[in-house]
Amino acid sequence: MADAGPGVESLTTDVAIIGTGGAGLMCALHLAERAPGARIALVSKGIVGKSGCTRMVQGGFNAALRAPDSVGAHFADTLRGGQFLNDQELAWALVSDAPRVIDELETKVGCFFDRDADGRIHQKAFAGQSFDRTVHRADLTGIEIMGRLRDQMFRIAPLELEDMRALDLVTDAHGELAGLTLLNIRSGKFLILRARVVVVATGGAATMYKVAAPAREKTGDGVAMCYRAGLALRDMEMLQFHPTGLLAGQSRLTGAVLEEGLRGAGAWLLNGAGERFMARYDAARMERSTRDVVARASYTEIVTGRGSPRGGVFLDIASVLGGAEVRRRFPGMVDRTRKIGQDLSEGPVEVSPTAHFHMGGVIIDPDCRTVMDGLLVAGEDAGGAHGANRLGGNGVAESTVFGARAGDTAAALVTSRALRVPDDEQVASSVRRALAPLTRESGPDPFSLTRRLKDLMWARAGVVRSGHGLRRAAQHLRDLAHEVAVVRAGGPAAVNYAWQEALDLRNQVTVAQLVVTAAAAREESRGAHARADYPRLDDAGWLRYTVLRAGDNGTAMVGTRPVEFTRLDRSGQPVPRGPAPGGPAGERPVPLEEPR
Ligand SMILES: Cc1cc2nc3c(=O)[nH]c(=O)nc-3n(C[C@H](O)[C@H](O)[C@H](O)COP(=O)(O)OP(=O)(O)OC[C@H]3O[C@@H](n4cnc5c(N)ncnc54)[C@H](O)[C@@H]3O)c2cc1C
Repeated sequence: MADAGPGVESLTTDVAIIGTGGAGLMCALHLAERAPGARIALVSKGIVGKSGCTRMVQGGFNAALRAPDSVGAHFADTLRGGQFLNDQELAWALVSDAPRVIDELETKVGCFFDRDADGRIHQKAFAGQSFDRTVHRADLTGIEIMGRLRDQMFRIAPLELEDMRALDLVTDAHGELAGLTLLNIRSGKFLILRARVVVVATGGAATMYKVAAPAREKTGDGVAMCYRAGLALRDMEMLQFHPTGLLAGQSRLTGAVLEEGLRGAGAWLLNGAGERFMARYDAARMERSTRDVVARASYTEIVTGRGSPRGGVFLDIASVLGGAEVRRRFPGMVDRTRKIGQDLSEGPVEVSPTAHFHMGGVIIDPDCRTVMDGLLVAGEDAGGAHGANRLGGNGVAESTVFGARAGDTAAALVTSRALRVPDDEQVASSVRRALAPLTRESGPDPFSLTRRLKDLMWARAGVVRSGHGLRRAAQHLRDLAHEVAVVRAGGPAAVNYAWQEALDLRNQVTVAQLVVTAAAAREESRGAHARADYPRLDDAGWLRYTVLRAGDNGTAMVGTRPVEFTRLDRSGQPVPRGPAPGGPAGERPVPLEEPR
């Protein structure tokens, strides 16, 4: 370890992986296998294997494992769910690698998934899918996957930098990626991590909303860091609201998800009058409709005065399956409701749409490369695979599939890419910016600014948006950004939650501004993006994805690009092309069919 300036130490590695969810750990595993001897540093804002959302995965993992299901059908469902905004090559990579990754998780990583009586992997129904294809371990699938991936880390023994916040990517004096700056949350000390390759896998962020499901430490850091480094982002307006978040007053469990498998198993959604209101919104699929449709339906019931007493709707599985079966099949969900004094196995519980997943993110190719040499992005930080709406079960598939691909790509890059010398001025300004809230004599308190941000995003850029509301949101966010720029967090540098909150807030406000800018640009309703003033899907004008990048004056430049129909056209028919790169031999996308 060498000294790189006053108070800032420097570490050197071959590959720095930022984030230790499914994407980060699969990346480390593949990298260690493909490039034995490469030095790997795992950087985690929390505890390795225990932070992030992959561990929170309840429902499961989509993979087409056997006929009559097929990779082509999974692909078609993914595009239909994403309302054809998807990057089809990313979506294809996701669905075609998913069966292989399930096999790898079972046979190499050591996961146990639930099985049928005949010994085959059990696959359950999830919304928006034409076959039962969700692989799971009861309703706590993420714990199984992350627990076993964590075990593998003991075997490959990377350098683990826990409770370590990645701040900024840094380049050398010629603009070539050289590494990143870090802040040790426990000690309050800064570090420079030099690396040949950096993999960003910080898991996106939907935490800038009042009711939100993701892990607390996910605050858009990776996306904001890439944006500041000049990378282009796509689909930032596409923020998914899961329809069934718990309503538990001031409890931290407000927003926590009751998994989609409940609707898959036949649960009813009832309004305050006890009506199965989905009949009004999607009579064919009812509660099994996609998340965007169900979240909007619940929201409409609530805002038109047909909600439950606490301002939600009711989810009822007990009347459908009976208490004993609910306890057997959904023990984690029953436990979760009991924690807030309700019981899913006894009767209906109150739920609300909750901010859940960001479909938008950094533009990548199917090997996780970005336009910056040596910089890879995987998992929820990347945009494009899910289009306008992610199917339940495609999230953990994305993080593990693309984490594995990033590991393979990093292994190929690690021998060819030289270590660069980080530019001193970039390092100094990253440290200066991060230190500022701690050294200021006065300024607003970060916690109150976070509350304002969350209320604002919920009210103006939430389940249903309007041009007027988004313009107001943009103005308020500009004011908030000015306040965040002078925020104060007193106290020591070590384990200072106010300081950490101030640093989170900077990235959350950046991401919120990008969401609002892209949402204002998209003048139609598609998938998770619903505009009250443009309620219709507009294929003629909007089979285009939004692209944002940082402008010279500090504001975001927004543009659009046409969707490329590389495998299926808008009517779901295969387009003529050569063999699918990376896909199983002979496997082709299939024409769209209506789900069963
Ligand atoms: C409650 C819930 C239930 C879900 N259930 C399902 C499901 O059933 N099926 C499904 O397919 N998907 C599900 N998802 C979505 C799924 O969890 C995500 O798509 C996926 O786990 C994202 O993986 P990831 O590796 O990209 O990020 P994560 O697993 O979220 O990991 C992010 C990592 O980045 C770290 N990090 C963040 N910022 C920094 C920083 N500045 N510096 C260093 N490290 C940082 C975090 O500490 C963490 O280690 C669910 C999500 C939630 C919230």
